Amino acid sequence: MSTSTLRAREKSASTAPIPFLDLVQQHVELEEELVQAFRRALRSAHFVGGSEVEAFENEFAQYIGAPHAVGMSNGTDALRLAYITLGLRPGDEVITAANTFIATTESISQARGTVRFVDVSPDTHTIDPSRIEAAITPRTKGIVPVHLYGQAADMDPILEIARCKGLWVIEDACQAHGGTYKGKKLGTIAPMAAFSFYPGKNLGACGDAGALTCTDASHVAVLKQLREHGQTEKYYHVIEGFTARLDAIQAAFLRIKLRRLDAWIDGRRQVAAWYGEALSEIPEVQRPAKAPWAKHVYHLYVIHAPRRNELRAHLQSRGISTGLHYPLPLHLQPAYAAYGHQRGSFPVTEASAKRLLSLPMYPELTQTDVGRVADAIRSFYR
Ligand SMILES: *Cc1c(COP(=O)(O)O)cnc(C)c1O
Repeated sequence: MSTSTLRAREKSASTAPIPFLDLVQQHVELEEELVQAFRRALRSAHFVGGSEVEAFENEFAQYIGAPHAVGMSNGTDALRLAYITLGLRPGDEVITAANTFIATTESISQARGTVRFVDVSPDTHTIDPSRIEAAITPRTKGIVPVHLYGQAADMDPILEIARCKGLWVIEDACQAHGGTYKGKKLGTIAPMAAFSFYPGKNLGACGDAGALTCTDASHVAVLKQLREHGQTEKYYHVIEGFTARLDAIQAAFLRIKLRRLDAWIDGRRQVAAWYGEALSEIPEVQRPAKAPWAKHVYHLYVIHAPRRNELRAHLQSRGISTGLHYPLPLHLQPAYAAYGHQRGSFPVTEASAKRLLSLPMYPELTQTDVGRVADAIRSFYR
């Protein structure tokens, strides 16, 4: 490349839009391998179940360090089938964080359970263990901590409460593939954990996909029945189930991407370190807290900032796209009006909903990109 073209490229890079998420770069790099996997699937005509699914399940279980992994159609179905496997019955209550994506609670309702929200800690924004006991009733069956934004919830006190009260625990690890709690991989802390491979997750398919990791082989058998019409063999149905299988093509793609996951996580942590440094000089910005118990894998890089909406518009005017996770807490959503929660029910979640802002985060971001985002934020508060 000539020096002038190079200079032109650098110039355009310094003004080019910075998307919130860029999946294109990752796929350009992997294109040959992905296309080969697709061709292999096409030629075998094996689209549901089969060796690619089994191989991915084994490789993912091994990566997480869990005894078993069961492929699922998506993370929401993974959670729903986990609740059903653990015997959730109509009216049973499940406790989870007020600040999460609706999939965590939708799946509880889909399994005919009742959602009990608990507020989050003001620093990590994961479920506040000190508020869990007050939410337990005689109908409570389980707790679903969410490893939010890629950082583990504080699991030890949660597991202790669950042990004392006879409740089960399922990790919602849909944002936290590869993260750890006190050195242990997420997905191995509770008896079951749900993962999503939605394209934008740290490990994403080229479509919808999900999985559960679990320790109990008897749960694996039930999960495999539930995901495939309740059958033990073709056309023999011990129960009614669902269509909730992982596609073979997605499994093949995921196997290719899983090999890169650790490098991508390193990339995300590097980007977070750059942000941390660049934003430390902007007193208005509260950077994401690093919990002492966690290896954060930065699915999202969420700052808290005053005049958030104006800041967001300012960044957008400079070509920098951002996200909100989440702008309206679940307990205030019309979908959950029937629970009758009012403003003020979960004050930490509500206060942070007004201030949170997710900055661009993906492994391909450069230090220059991060510098541009920080400069744009600085210029807003000046
Ligand atoms: C993505 C996600 C899920 C599951 O999402 P799917 O799109 O169904 O795979 C569940 N919980 C959380 C917290 C998530 O972010």
